[in-house]
This record gives sequence, C-alpha cells and structure tokens, in this order.
Amino acid sequence: MKKITSIKMRITIWYTTLMFILILVVLSLVGGLSYQLSIDSVEKDVILQVTQVTEKLSKRHGGVFELVESKEEFKNVSIYESNGKYIVGQYIYDVANIPFVEGIPRRENVDGKDYIVYDIRTPSPPGLRGGFWIRGVESVNSTMLLGRSAIIIMLILVPLILVLTALGGYYITNKAFMPVNNIVKTANDISAQNDISRRIEITPDAKEDELQHLSLTLNRMLDKIETLIKQEKQFTSDASHELRTPISVILAQGEYLLDIAENDKEKELAKNIVDKANQVSKLVSRLLLITRIDQNRQKIKKEKVDLGVIADIAVESMKDMAEKKGITLSSDITEGIIVNGDEALLLSAITNLISNGIKYGKDSGRVTISASKLGNKTEIKVSDNGVGIAKENIDKIWTRFYRIDDVRNDEYASSGLGLAMVKSIVELHGGEISVSSKLGEGTQFRIVLKG
Ligand code: ADP
Repeated sequence: MKKITSIKMRITIWYTTLMFILILVVLSLVGGLSYQLSIDSVEKDVILQVTQVTEKLSKRHGGVFELVESKEEFKNVSIYESNGKYIVGQYIYDVANIPFVEGIPRRENVDGKDYIVYDIRTPSPPGLRGGFWIRGVESVNSTMLLGRSAIIIMLILVPLILVLTALGGYYITNKAFMPVNNIVKTANDISAQNDISRRIEITPDAKEDELQHLSLTLNRMLDKIETLIKQEKQFTSDASHELRTPISVILAQGEYLLDIAENDKEKELAKNIVDKANQVSKLVSRLLLITRIDQNRQKIKKEKVDLGVIADIAVESMKDMAEKKGITLSSDITEGIIVNGDEALLLSAITNLISNGIKYGKDSGRVTISASKLGNKTEIKVSDNGVGIAKENIDKIWTRFYRIDDVRNDEYASSGLGLAMVKSIVELHGGEISVSSKLGEGTQFRIVLKG
C-alpha cells in the first residue's frame, strides 16, 4: 500500500480516527448507562405491580378467588398456586417454567429473550395449603431500551459527523498549510527562473502564526542573499573593469618589446608576456560581459542576423586552429535563416562553441555547425566527434571557471568561462541552450532562439 506522505492527510486521518474512537466510547458509555437505567426502571415497575396486586389480595376476604371473579386486569402479573399451577393474570408461556424465587428481582433469559422476573409468595388463606405465587414479568428488549434515537445516531449521525469532521479538518489544515505551498512555489520559481528577487507572498489577512513567521524569516534571508549576490557581482564587475587598463598597457608594452627584441631569448620572453596578457584580457572581457548581463546592464543591439553569414565568419576565424589538429570545419546552413539578435554577441557565442569543438575534438575529427527553423523558433547545433563529456560532469560545465580535468590548457588558454558566457548570451536573447554528449564519441550543443 502506498504510504500517505501528506501531513495534511495524516493529520486529518489521525483526528478523524480519534473522533471515531471518542464517539464510540461516549456512545457505549451513554448506551450502557441508559440500558442500566431502563433495566432499573423496568425492575421498579415490576416490583410495584407485584406489590400492588399483593396488597389488593390481602385486602380482599375472598383472596385470589375473589380477585379472579372480579375480572380485574393484571398487566404484567400472574398468580400461581404454590405448586406452580397458573390461576390468573397475564400468562406468558415462556416464563411459566422459571422456578419461583421469593422477593429477588432478576433477569432471566428464555429462548434468547430477556425478562425481568419478580416473585412474591403470599401467605395461605384459611383452609388452603401452600399459599400463592404472585409473579411479575416484563420483557426486556435491549434495542428498545437503547432507544430508537441511539440507533439513528449510530447509523446516520456518526458517519455524518465523521465525514464533516474529515472535510472540515482537511479544509482547516489545508488553509493553515497554504503558506507552505507559497514557500515551495517561491523556492521552485527561484530555482527555475534563476530569479532571487522573488519573495514568499504574505497576504494582508494572513494569520500571525508560526508559518507566517517562517515565511517572513525566509524572505529576510532571501533579502540578505540577494544583497550578497549583488555585491559579489558588483565586485567582479569593478575588479574586471579595474584590470582592463593595466592589461592593455602590459599588452601594448609587451608587443613593443617583441618588436625591439634583439635576440631569440628576448623574443621568447616578450612573446610570453604578449600571450599571457592576451589570455588575461580575453578572460577579463568575458567576465565583464557575463557580469553586465547578470546585472542587466549589457546593451543589446537587436537586428536581423543571417546565421549563415555568422557561421561562415566563425568558421573562417577558427580555420587555423582547426587545421593544426587536422579537424574539418563545416557549416551546413542554408541561406536566409535569419534571427533577431545582437550580431557581435551571437558571433562570439558560436565562435566559442566551435572553438570548444576543436579544443576537445580528436585529431583529424570534425566540427559541424547547422541551423534550421522550428516553427517560430530557430535551432542552431554545433556538433563534434571529440572526447565527449561524462554524465556526472554534464550539469557542471555551465559553472563559471569550471574545467572538467582542471588542467590549465596553455595551448588554448582555457579559462572555464567560455560556456558560462555562451549561456549568458543565449539567455540575454531569451533563448535556451542544452548539451548532449557521450564520453569518447562526441558532443552536441543546441541553441534554440525565438524568431
Ligand atoms: P574552457 O575555457 O575550459 O573551454 P568552457 O566553459 O568553454 O571552458 O568549458 C567548460 C568545460 O566543459 C571544459 O573544461 C571542457 O571540459 C568541457 N567542454 C566544453 N565543450 C566541450 C566539447 N565540445 N567537448 C568536450 N568537452 C567540452
């Protein structure tokens, strides 16, 4: 059986069961008590009737015989001779054979039916032996005693009360747990939309209970996290900005040194400075772009961009790099696939994916770029038959500064910022990027853009 995991459901089941047990206990107590009271009153009634008949008998000179002749009604009383022979009164066959016991009211069961029986022995009138037995009998019908109302309560009211308890309880717990739904929804929205500015909704009529307290605390925590993230982005942006000028100076002076180098040793040192300065300059530019997009400060110049043209430019710029590894670059884009976007940024993203295809491609492999229209969307694919990405790493590749083998790839100036930048550019265009890869077989990046 499936385990019930909802707290609301568990609480409802728990107190409905409790209510059911409570009703059962109360009903059995009330039922038992009223049954006992009914028995007592039947007993009293029987004793009274027997006593009245006995008194009447003692007042008449002719005793029983006069009573018989008077044809008086004996509601629940019968008179027997001392040997048990019936003389007069209400004759109940079932109880006629019950032995007589003087003066003790008792319950007798005959053929499954209960009776209250009470016997009195009268003294013998003059001239007669043995006297008489006066017997009072009243049947005890337990369901009758419990009363119709109790049965109605049991059969109709109890299920009704239980259904109302369950429904009412579920409604109240559901309402009480509403803030939890809001908390879960906000948390899901934050992770799905990467939007830390969202807050848990607290309606003005919300009760000031523990859950409202929790919502307020979480909202305060989100405020704090948002501020910290903003500060961190601002720091990265400021730091990158501050680094740009010194790097440009290092680069310019390194190039000058390269020009005036007089021997191989000096050339090698100057070239090293220029390469590293280029590497840092690229890294800083990427970092700046990513943080600007993060802070919604990146301006986007949207225009009609021909993907075929962009792909050709990207392929052309990567030709030398590909040739060094013997990798075949090809663009398979039919003319006229147009998207609305920022040409420079889209070119940068596509170039980056092609460059990755070469960097992580096998010698003499291939990297292909293709594009097609999917309804009102455009799909761009960059595929390679290179080293591939292991399943456990696939979600991490978008993380800033993440490199799978964490080895600084000097040849290609690997920084771990390429894919983070591509993703930021795609998202800035309102698009989505995904990857599918098989270790040892190859990788395919897929961008879907609106329009
Ligand atoms: P890097 O500057 O290291 O290339 P990226 O952000 O571009 O940084 O990529 C992050 C990591 O994802 C890389 O270190 C690499 O391990 C993996 N990766 C990216 N593209 C590919 C690809 N086409 N094939 C295999 N692995 C790739």
